[in-house]
Amino acid sequence: MSEAARTGIRVSRRMSDDRGRVDLKSMDREAVERFMVDELGQTVTRARLVFQWMWHRGARTFAEMQGVPKALRRQLEERCYISFLEPDQVLKSVDGTIKYVWRLEDGHLIESVLIPEVQRTTLCMSSQVGCAMACTFCVTGDLGLKRNLKPSEIANQALQVARQLPEGERITNLVLMGMGEPLHNLPNLVGALSICLDDFALNFSHRRVTVSTVGLVPKMAELAAALPVNLAVSINATTEEQRREIMPLTRKYSLAEVIEACRNFPLPSGKRITFEYVMFRGFNDTIEDAERLFRLLDGIPAKVNLIPYNENPGRDLKAPDHADVKAFQDYFMSRSKACHVRTTRGLDINAACGQLGKGRGQAVEDTWLEDARRIAGLSN
Ligand code: SAH
Repeated sequence: MSEAARTGIRVSRRMSDDRGRVDLKSMDREAVERFMVDELGQTVTRARLVFQWMWHRGARTFAEMQGVPKALRRQLEERCYISFLEPDQVLKSVDGTIKYVWRLEDGHLIESVLIPEVQRTTLCMSSQVGCAMACTFCVTGDLGLKRNLKPSEIANQALQVARQLPEGERITNLVLMGMGEPLHNLPNLVGALSICLDDFALNFSHRRVTVSTVGLVPKMAELAAALPVNLAVSINATTEEQRREIMPLTRKYSLAEVIEACRNFPLPSGKRITFEYVMFRGFNDTIEDAERLFRLLDGIPAKVNLIPYNENPGRDLKAPDHADVKAFQDYFMSRSKACHVRTTRGLDINAACGQLGKGRGQAVEDTWLEDARRIAGLSN
């Protein structure tokens, strides 16, 4: 029987190692339970214990799983492995933002960004190597899509960063706003987020997990059906023509369809959709744009997140004037619609919005890198 049929999950080439063992961390709890009950004749309780060891206590080996019988540990060792991301670089910005560059099993690099603020500490995670969406202003788009991340590669970002934080500090929020289009890798995203939300694993509240999308219309409802996480939509423009110019996906799913999908999005009471709006000077920064956006969002429980464009080379797009950002924000605030200006963080280490994959920064934090390597089991 194939591994896929045995474990009940899709196992790609990269989900097994050179000894044919499966990455046990790419299964959510139910899949681990199914695998261990059906294949190894174990109880659900034992399966949970193993799952907890991997995701709650960060075990690097089966050998260290105290309370799991030795024979079972050996059996697991033969059939499975515990994956970790290899930290390639840890860069610290002058503003305290920390960028992690991870090297994957096949050599690709991905990035996560930790953003400490007064009230919360947010981890921005990647969902793909590169991105297929080709938004003109974003450097991750320049890479094209190399491949999807598997569930373990997504959830391991949160586990490994969380374990590195100093005593008493923790990640409070997760946002899928790093490299990639999360809804373009939906099955693996859902697997990873179930691990992030599971109380036997990372135990995040769904109120503090946000998935950001360019507006992959059919996948929005699928996400809602799978998990109760928050939705953010990168809207960025207010007419079809304007949006087509910077977000080619608009040719497939029009702005009107994206808004319609938001209107139909099954929001639990009290939740709102976040609309991200990257502002470019002389392109989408006028009061007329604000008016149009306001009208588009009419009737949708929404908050607007204005993101001043971080300039990237090779484009004639420009960062907005501060006064225009302020006027845009005031337009919403004076009409009692929540509108927040996202502070640019991590610019000096290429960790700001739309800069992931841009290359390495200068401010290497050697001690953090060493620590991150230790957590990944690469040094002692
Ligand atoms: N693909 C998803 C997840 C990435 S989120 C999405 O697009 O929503 C990244 C956010 O940063 C998006 O809102 C995007 O519009 C914004 N962004 C991309 N490049 C940017 C840049 N150069 N400056 C500011 N924001 C940018």
